[in-house]
Amino acid sequence: MSDLIRSQVDGHHALSVVPDLSETLPAPIREGIARRRLVATGHPCPCGAAPIRLNRTHRRRIAAQRRTGTTTPVVRLAVVHEDDCPAADDVLNALATRHGLTPTRWT
Ligand SMILES: [Zn+2]
Repeated sequence: MSDLIRSQVDGHHALSVVPDLSETLPAPIREGIARRRLVATGHPCPCGAAPIRLNRTHRRRIAAQRRTGTTTPVVRLAVVHEDDCPAADDVLNALATRHGLTPTRWT
């Protein structure tokens, strides 16, 4: 399961999809998910991954979508964690395998 976290990114409403922080998950996986949730709420990860920011391409895409007026602007943003961070996809998948869980998409 996943949770939705509402926040602001550079003055725009943002909605982050993050894994559920289930009590039943092993502690190392919980740590990775907690780090993802930390960044989604505007805080840096202990590995140094910074909260999401919009770049020029994102801002242009949002402006173009607003001009058409057909929908709420949507851009997909990703946080890049260090390779050894428990929040990184590869680390989370390895941890899941080690604990007998099915690796998944950790969004
Ligand atoms: Zn990290």
